[in-house]
Amino acid sequence: MTRCTRCGRTLKAPTASGLGPVCQVKSMTRCEATADLWFDTEQLAQRARQRVNFRIEISYKRALRDVRQDFAAARGRLGL
Ligand SMILES: [Zn+2]
Repeated sequence: MTRCTRCGRTLKAPTASGLGPVCQVKSMTRCEATADLWFDTEQLAQRARQRVNFRIEISYKRALRDVRQDFAAARGRLGL
C-alpha cells in the first residue's frame, strides 16, 4: 500500500513526488508564495563560498599537521 510521504494518506497509485494530490497542490502553492524567501541566490552563493573556504582551511591545517608529525617521526627513527 502506498502512502503520501507528507500526511500519510493512503494513495490509489504511487506518484513521482511521493505526495498525494492534495499535498502536491499545497506544496506547489507554498513554493510559489515563498519563492523570494527560499531562493536568495546571492546569499546562498556567499554561504557556499564560506563553507568551501572553511573546508579548505581545515584540510590545509590537517595536512600541515600530518606532514609535521611524519617529519618528526622520521627524525626520531633516524636518531636526529
Ligand atoms: Zn498528503
